Amino acid sequence: MKLKKYINLINMSQDCIFCKIVSGQIPTYTLFEDEKVIVFLDAYPVSFGHSLFVPKKHYETIDKVPEEDIDFLKKLPYIVKQIKKITNATGINIWQNNGREAGQIVPHVHFHIVPRYPNDSLFDFPSQKQLNENEAKDIVKKFNQNKI
Ligand code: 5GP
Ligand code: ZN
Repeated sequence: MKLKKYINLINMSQDCIFCKIVSGQIPTYTLFEDEKVIVFLDAYPVSFGHSLFVPKKHYETIDKVPEEDIDFLKKLPYIVKQIKKITNATGINIWQNNGREAGQIVPHVHFHIVPRYPNDSLFDFPSQKQLNENEAKDIVKKFNQNKI
């Protein structure tokens, strides 16, 4: 067995769809691959060029990625640039769900790269209300007093 394939199998989680894509058990339309990351077209795109940027190592959510493993993200700007170029998109959303409540269906960290086009009315950022001063002070205090 090739070393690269073997390393992918060690980091694999049983029954994870994206791990199976990484190890080649499920085919995809792959745009890019290196030793740390794979980028492929989403099987149910919300827009032309909708792709998934996926670390090869299995982590369920972004908060489970150790700092020393985050360098798979280095390639994100290049991939976004390339997708923007080939799709002629005028904007790009990077969309990343963690946990069921946040809309995560596949529990293997991934970044949606969603090309946007003029008047595509795909989705907008939820409506916002001005930050409450007491709430803001409380969050800053809690954040600094509860270091992990
Ligand atoms: P989530 O909701 O977990 O952030 O998004 C998971 C994404 O993975 C969905 O947009 C879904 O269409 C995509 N997806 C699920 N299974 C497959 C698959 O087997 N192949 C590909 N290419 N995409 C998949
Ligand atoms: Zn996985």
